[in-house]
Amino acid sequence: MSHTAGPTARDWHDRAAALQVNGQAFIDGRYVAAASGATFDDVSPIDGRVIAPVASTDQADVDRAVAAARRAFEHGVWARQPPRERKRVLQRFAELILAHGDELALLETIDMGKPIGDSLAVDIPATARCIAWYAEAVDKVYDEVAPTSHDALALITREPVGVVAAIVPWNFPLIMAAWKIGPALAAGNSFILKPSEKSPLTAIRLAALAAEAGVPDGVFNVLPGFGHTAGEALALHMDVDCIGFTGSTRTGKLMLQYSGRSNMKRVWLECGGKSPNIILADCPDLDRAAATAASAIFFNQGEMCTAGSRLVVEENVRDRVLEKIVDASRTMPPGDPLDPATRLGAIVDDVQMKTVLGYIDAGRSEGAVVLAGGRRTREATGGYYVEPTVFTDVRHDMRIAREEIFGPVLAAITVKDAEEAVRVGNAVDYGLAAAVWTRDIGKAHRIARSLRAGMVYVKCYDADDITVPFGGFKQSGIGRDKSLHAFDKYTELKTTWIDLTA
Ligand code: NAD
Repeated sequence: MSHTAGPTARDWHDRAAALQVNGQAFIDGRYVAAASGATFDDVSPIDGRVIAPVASTDQADVDRAVAAARRAFEHGVWARQPPRERKRVLQRFAELILAHGDELALLETIDMGKPIGDSLAVDIPATARCIAWYAEAVDKVYDEVAPTSHDALALITREPVGVVAAIVPWNFPLIMAAWKIGPALAAGNSFILKPSEKSPLTAIRLAALAAEAGVPDGVFNVLPGFGHTAGEALALHMDVDCIGFTGSTRTGKLMLQYSGRSNMKRVWLECGGKSPNIILADCPDLDRAAATAASAIFFNQGEMCTAGSRLVVEENVRDRVLEKIVDASRTMPPGDPLDPATRLGAIVDDVQMKTVLGYIDAGRSEGAVVLAGGRRTREATGGYYVEPTVFTDVRHDMRIAREEIFGPVLAAITVKDAEEAVRVGNAVDYGLAAAVWTRDIGKAHRIARSLRAGMVYVKCYDADDITVPFGGFKQSGIGRDKSLHAFDKYTELKTTWIDLTA
């Protein structure tokens, strides 16, 4: 039970029990059932209970949503609005997200199991900030004139791509959607959001807020449903111009195939990671490094694409660092996600929990040593909880060192020096994030340059701001979310060459 002044766990449970949960799709400005009438049960990982039936959309619904999105785009109700008008509507959208912050946070927590304190402090403000930031940007970004010869004028302008479909995962349902909604809508596109079947509720709720803010009918649609039905139909659709995808590398590769088999739609991929957090012997503050290493893997139950899941530590500081990380792990036992004091919540579902436990078994059988955690817990709740787990004596050829676990499991690999740390750091298929802890600024820069990753943190982890690009090298993805660079995904460049000689 929390001792803060705000709502208690009991208050949040009462609010959850009283919630009116809408599980419908949102197409062309209206909530509708799937054309087939099919639904699936949305289960809460907190206790394994069904929250609500949710529309299971498929090809017929995708066709309707794409037609509505195309119609709105061609009519120019959004695409040809002055940027300042789109700005006004999107700012209102961001305000409404904040105004409904408690409700959205509650939906996020009961749907995917993250602690309510994090939903309130991280997910809601980051979602609103993202949409407001792109709203602000849209009437401040200018097009270009090329430095051609004197007798020509060449304009380089940006146009919206058209119909954008976003297919997103369950770990940060609102934030991952916002990273696509913000730039895509600001640039004037029509938009279709396919949330994960594991956490569709906040996306569905967002649709009403977008409409209330003034986003015209057909411009913002939400299609809950499964990957192999709704997702595949969207990605194969001949009239979808662009897919903004966040999810696993396996599904990301399918997106490239779907594009090739259909209309060569633009495909942007934000995929998995297995990020090295490198702590060297000359780290200026081992306490801070260890505390940060613990949150880098245990925040959001480790269900983070950027999770610092590989601790790459120099051998003469290894024991001290591991001892502190183990101590930190003991301060965050899995708890009730609706208790404001909880720091580690539930794993999103039964399937993901079994995957995580399977990796823990694989680590043990390959000879790694469990220093902390390693078991399922809180089983009597009916929910899905795994202890924060620390492995040591991990070799970098073991599965727990190479494959993305997407759970609260740290693999510690010992290295002799900085050179080996970089080699081990780069020795996976992924290249999303990396971190290095050293007091030597020159060494930090040299290592940062050598690490094949989209984000490199020096003396920090997961430092984040909407102003910087986010995305991966190698099999972590193609393209970047966030910052002005995200407009590159959702706009086409056009050259208009005017002969001035006549
Ligand atoms: P996933 O690939 O299983 O699913 C992602 C989305 O794709 C879901 O909406 C799902 O329904 C849909 N999908 C699944 N199969 C499909 C198919 N055959 N055709 C069309 N759509 C399909 O991933 P997940 O388990 O939801 O999310 C976890 C993954 O997301 C992890 O690998 C994580 O690293 C990654 N992720 C990456 C980032 C990033 O920015 N790089 C951010 C968050 C999560």
